[in-house]
Amino acid sequence: MKRPWSISLRLTLWFGGIFFLGWLLFGAAMWWNLHHTLVNERYGTLARREERLEKLLLADRNRNVAERMQDFAGFASATGHGLCEILDEQGRPAYPVPRGEAQYFPWPQVKDSGAEQFEQVGAAGESWWVLGRPFSLGSEKLYVMDAAPEADNRVVLDRFLTGLLASIPLLLLISSAGGYFLSRRALLPVDRISASARTISITNLSQRLPVPRTGDELQRLSETCNAMLERLEGAVSRIRQFTADASHDLRGPVSFMRTVAEVALRNPKIDADSRASFGEIVSESENAAALLENLLTLARADAERADVALVTLDLRHVVEEACEVAQPLAAERQHTLLVDLDSSRNYRVMGDFASLRRLFWILLDNAVKYTPSPGRIEVGLSCCADELVVAVRDNGIGISEEDLPRIFDRFYRADPSRGQVEGNGLGLSIAKWIAEMHRARLSVASVVHSGTTFEIAFPADAE
Ligand code: ADP
Repeated sequence: MKRPWSISLRLTLWFGGIFFLGWLLFGAAMWWNLHHTLVNERYGTLARREERLEKLLLADRNRNVAERMQDFAGFASATGHGLCEILDEQGRPAYPVPRGEAQYFPWPQVKDSGAEQFEQVGAAGESWWVLGRPFSLGSEKLYVMDAAPEADNRVVLDRFLTGLLASIPLLLLISSAGGYFLSRRALLPVDRISASARTISITNLSQRLPVPRTGDELQRLSETCNAMLERLEGAVSRIRQFTADASHDLRGPVSFMRTVAEVALRNPKIDADSRASFGEIVSESENAAALLENLLTLARADAERADVALVTLDLRHVVEEACEVAQPLAAERQHTLLVDLDSSRNYRVMGDFASLRRLFWILLDNAVKYTPSPGRIEVGLSCCADELVVAVRDNGIGISEEDLPRIFDRFYRADPSRGQVEGNGLGLSIAKWIAEMHRARLSVASVVHSGTTFEIAFPADAE
C-alpha cells in the first residue's frame, strides 16, 4: 500500500512552496521596480542633456551658422555617444549631423502632433532609448532628439536577476528546513499523544493521555480522547463484573446438575440409553464447570483481584507436581513424557504454587491434547544468562505462523483444533496472565506437523 505523506512533510512542502512563490513574486515586483527606476533615470539623463542643448541653441541664436554648427558638434561629441539630432519643422536635420553614427541611426518618426516622445529603438543589435522634444528658437520650430544605450540598464537588471535566481536554492533550503522545524515543533505533542495512546489497551484502560495545556485543538483532542477512554473503561468494567458474577453464579447450578447425573448413574436399575445420557450430562457439565472456572479466573485477573501472595518456592517442585498429574493422561494417549529437571542447583523463584502448577498444567495438557498418539513430550528446566527457563516441548501438530500471534487471545482456537480437540480457547490466556503475575516471559515456537515448544523464562533476580 502506498504510504501517505506525513503531516510534517506536507507542511514542509507547503511552507517551502509558498515561500518560494512569495519570493518569486517579490523578486518580480523588485525587478519591475528597478527596471522602471532605471528607465526613469535614462529619461532624466536625456532630458537634462536636451535642456543643456536647448540652452546652447538659445545662446547661439545670434551667432553665424558656422559658429552654431561648431558649438553643436562640440556639444555632441562631449555628451553621451554623440547621438543627438536637431530637426526642422519638415523633419529634416536642421544642423549637420555631428557624428557618423547619428546619420545612420534609426531615429523614430516625429509624431504629427509634434509632442514629446520617449521610446525604445534597436540599432546595430543594441537597444536604445530615444527622447524627442519640441523646441522653439524664436519663430523657428525645432525638434531635438537624443539617444542613450539601454545596455547599462540591462547589465544592472541581469545582475539583479542572476542574484535572484542564485538565491533560490539557498532560500528553498532555508524555507524547507524552517518549515520542517516549525511543523515538527507544532506536531511534537501529537507524537507524544499517539505514543501514549499506543500503550493503552484493554489491560490498562485506566491510563490517560497527556493533555498539553495549550488551549488549542490538541488540548481539546486529548481531552476528548480521555473522555472516551473513561466511557470505555466504565463499559469494560461493567462487562467484566457481569462475566465474573455470571460465571460465579452459574457454578452452583452446573455442579448440581453434575451431582444429580452422577447419583443417577449409580442407580443399577437405569437402562442403557439413560445411562449414556447421564454420562453425557456428567461430561458436558465437567466441561462447563472448567469453562466457568477459567472465565472466573480471567475476570478476577482483569479486576486485579487475584490477591495471591508470592512466596519463595522451588520451581522444580512445581514442575514435578504438574508432571505427576499429567503422567497418567499422557500414558492414556500412549505419549512418552520425559522430564529432565536439573537437580544440581536450586531454582528458587518468588511465586504462587497453585498458580504456577496451573500454568504448567495448561501447557502439559495442551501438549498431550495436540500431539497425535504415540507422541513425545519433554519437560526441561534450565538456567541461562539471568533467567530460569521451563520448557515444554512436543512433537505434535504444531501451530501455523498465522495462528501463532493469536493463540494467547481469549477464546482463540487454531483451526485444526476446532471441533476435534476439547477446549475453550482460554487456557493460554490464563497461562499468560499467570506468567505476567510472576514477571515471567511466556514464549512459543512451533513448526506445523513437527511440534511446539513453550518456554517460560523467570527473571533470575526473583530467586
Ligand atoms: P484450548 O486448548 O482450550 O483450545 P488454549 O488457549 O490452551 O485453548 O490454546 C489455544 C490454541 O492454541 C489451541 O486451540 C490450539 O490450537 C493451540 N495450541 C496450544 N497449545 C498447542 C500445542 N502444544 N500444539 C499445537 N497447538 C497448540
